[in-house]
Amino acid sequence: MARASCPKCNRLIIHCICALIRPLACRTQVTLVQYPGEENHPLGTAALVQGALDCALLRTDALLAAPAWPDGTALLFPGEEASNLATLASAPPHLVVLDGTWRKALRLYEQSPALKALPKVCLPQGAASRYRLRSTRKKSALSTVEAVMMALAIIEPGIDLSPLEDGFEGLIERAMTRLPASVRQQYL
Ligand SMILES: [Zn+2]
Repeated sequence: MARASCPKCNRLIIHCICALIRPLACRTQVTLVQYPGEENHPLGTAALVQGALDCALLRTDALLAAPAWPDGTALLFPGEEASNLATLASAPPHLVVLDGTWRKALRLYEQSPALKALPKVCLPQGAASRYRLRSTRKKSALSTVEAVMMALAIIEPGIDLSPLEDGFEGLIERAMTRLPASVRQQYL
């Protein structure tokens, strides 16, 4: 039974996130693109976003066939060509977000003409992550759920993000309690 999976979220029972998911109402459509292997990451936050927003999750192989993105689709991705979401005259109705570490997301982007073809938007500078458990060399890198929350807060001012905030806190807390005390200290 130790390897049994939850029939609802498909994650191993010990990593089941169903109890942390609460629906969040928003008008922005979000599609997550997931790098191979991320779906099994116990700390992955994409499943939380997918559950709360009831949004699509694409595997990378789906990008090979160049998806038919709806009008107004933009890729949330930093870089010189990216427009700052906070200063755009009109926000994109459909956001594509890459899941995974910054390095993996970059590799995914570099390899995908379907992603490169999309107009890019980015979050304002200085968006630091509070996600203590997925270390990254790039200080401003955000977990998937944080990036989605920040983008939604800009696009839909006044939106109630508590379902994602609470779920994210729950995910962090649960992960922290599972770390050996000696390791946990490094994150406090
Ligand atoms: Zn579950």
